[in-house]
Formats: sequence, structure tokens, C-alpha cells
Amino acid sequence: KLYNQVQETRGNIRVFCRCRPLSREQASAGHATVVDFDAAKDGYIGILPIGSAKKTYKFDRVFLPKDDQENVFADASPLVISVLDGYNVCIFAYGQTGTGKTYTMEGTENNRGVNYRTLELLFRMVEDRKETFVYRLSVNVLEVYNEQIRDLLVDSPASKRLEVRQVSEGANPVPGLVTAEVDSIEEVWKVLQTGNNARATGSNNVNEHSSRSHCMICITVAAKNLINGECTKSKLWLVDLAGSERLGKTDVQGERLKEAQNINRSLSALGDVISALASKSNHIPYRNSKLTHILQDSLGGDSKTLMFVQISPLEQDLGETLSSLNFATRVR
Ligand code: ADP
Ligand code: MG
Repeated sequence: KLYNQVQETRGNIRVFCRCRPLSREQASAGHATVVDFDAAKDGYIGILPIGSAKKTYKFDRVFLPKDDQENVFADASPLVISVLDGYNVCIFAYGQTGTGKTYTMEGTENNRGVNYRTLELLFRMVEDRKETFVYRLSVNVLEVYNEQIRDLLVDSPASKRLEVRQVSEGANPVPGLVTAEVDSIEEVWKVLQTGNNARATGSNNVNEHSSRSHCMICITVAAKNLINGECTKSKLWLVDLAGSERLGKTDVQGERLKEAQNINRSLSALGDVISALASKSNHIPYRNSKLTHILQDSLGGDSKTLMFVQISPLEQDLGETLSSLNFATRVR
């Protein structure tokens, strides 16, 4: 079976919750957990804080530690396919640092994530449909750090100043970005690797840097229908968001404070935009952050959105877990 059908609950916004497993060290150290795995089903997940009442949350899907990358992608793939039918799509991973955002999106060499599987599926579908459609795929890779956009496909990303522009339908919202035309999964993989390497340069701690910036991959699909001659252009964004954790009381100073404020601002802006869309509000506040401004024409209208809310099962992360689950409930 190619993919599972996920019932649409509320228009074009879906929220999947994924709980990461304990690491081997955590399991052997016997850390307390608060997620009620036994009771999780049909999109429900229960949190059992020690000594207080159970809280239950409902999502479009819930993935537990036993669910692998293939299970997860099976439920995301209908959205991926819809980009070939002309829809704009955004897939986000949201959550505290260490909960598996990068694992879900990027994955590892042996357990590839949504990004790779998406491109693999797209190229397979392009091949399947070649009697009726000609598709051209291209890729941009960028990062938003401290409300600044960095192009990760140029040699020295810091040297170029990039801004969001109001653009015509289908055009790139950040003029000046390097666009890589791609014809095969191998080529895309190389491009993504280049992006990843660029992300690491100029920071002394790669993991810390990536947990404080939003990594954004844009796949543009230009389609020509060979039967009726119709041409369409659509975009699929794959976004590994900055960590949603709040700042510890001890490091509320200097550069770290500015970073934290920028992350906070852009994640709340994203929450505001998605919840305004979900409640069919007349005013959608796209302009409040670089992140939402860049995504303006891919969030809302008939675009489709999928948010992975990543959580940790550990009792020590309970505060952040509840805050992520509440964020997700607001956007659903
Ligand atoms: P984040 O990007 O949210 O900071 P990571 O994706 O880096 O978190 O995950 C933290 C660690 O947990 C990594 O070593 C990752 O490989 C591992 N991990 C996360 N989710 C899973 C999962 N579902 N299965 C196995 N390992 C996971
Ligand atoms: Mg990460």
C-alpha cells in the first residue's frame, strides 16, 4: 500500500503528535515517564503527571516510540502527493530540543526521515505520471536565525542580505536565493548535504546552533499537463523548527536572550497564523515574523499544513511537553 488515508478533521490543517523513545542511557537509568502509552489510540494521548490528574489530548494521529519512520511517513504521504496536483504544502516539526524534530524530518542514514522519503515519493510519482505530466523539481535550502535569512546553498551564507518580498503566485518569496534544479533523488541528496554543511559553518556548536534556528527546505514543482496544456507551480516546505523550550533563568542575558526572544516571537507568530487560519479569521498576521512571512503563500488558502508535535516521555520534561501539547491544541 502506497499510503494511508488520514481523515481530515479541520480544513487543511493536521496535527500529528510523535513521542520519542527513551535513549538507552535513560532507559537503563530508570527515569520516570509520564506518557500513558497503553491508552494511546485513535489520536488520543494521555499524560499522567505523578501525583496529579491525567490530561488527555486529541490529534489527527499519535505516534509512539514503537512507530518507525515508515509508519510516520505513510500518514504524511497524501499531503506530499497533493503538491503534484498543484497544492502548496507545509510540513513542520515543532517541539523542545531533543524530542526528535530532526529525526522526524531528516532522520539518520539508516532511518531516513520525511525529507528524503518525500523526495523519493515525488520522483517515483513523476515517473508514474510521465504519460500525462511533465514535472520540473527545484530546491532551495535556507535558515532563519535571529530573524535573518541565510541561503544555505551559497558558499558564504552570511555575506548575502536576503529579504521577503510580496510576490506573484508561485514565485519564490525570497528573491536572490540559489535554486538547485534536480532530476533525481541522488542529486537532491547532494543538495541537502550541501545545505547541512553550510548550516554548520561559522558556529562553534553545530547542534546548539541548529536548535536555535529554523531550517527550511522548499521544493518547487512546475507541472505541465500534456493532455490539456495547463501549467501549474506549487511549493512544498519542509521545516525543522527551532527548539520551543523556554529559557532557563540563569542565561537570560546578551546574545542568548536575543536568540530566545526571536525564537519565541517566530514560534508564537506561527501559532497565531495557524490558529487564525483554523478559525477562519479575516486577518491572518503573516507579517509578525520572517518564518510566517516567508511561508505566507503556502499557509492558508487551499494550502495544506501538517505539524508534527514532538514530545519526550520523561517526567523531567513534563513542563515543556504540556506547553507543546497546548500549542498544538491551539493550532488544531
Ligand atoms: P531535536 O531535533 O528535536 O533536537 P533530535 O532529532 O536530534 O531532536 O533527537 C534527539 C535524539 O533522539 C537523536 O539522537 C535522535 O536520533 C533520537 N531520536 C529521536 N526520535 C527518535 C525515534 N523516534 N526513534 C529513535 N531515535 C530517536
Ligand atoms: Mg534538531
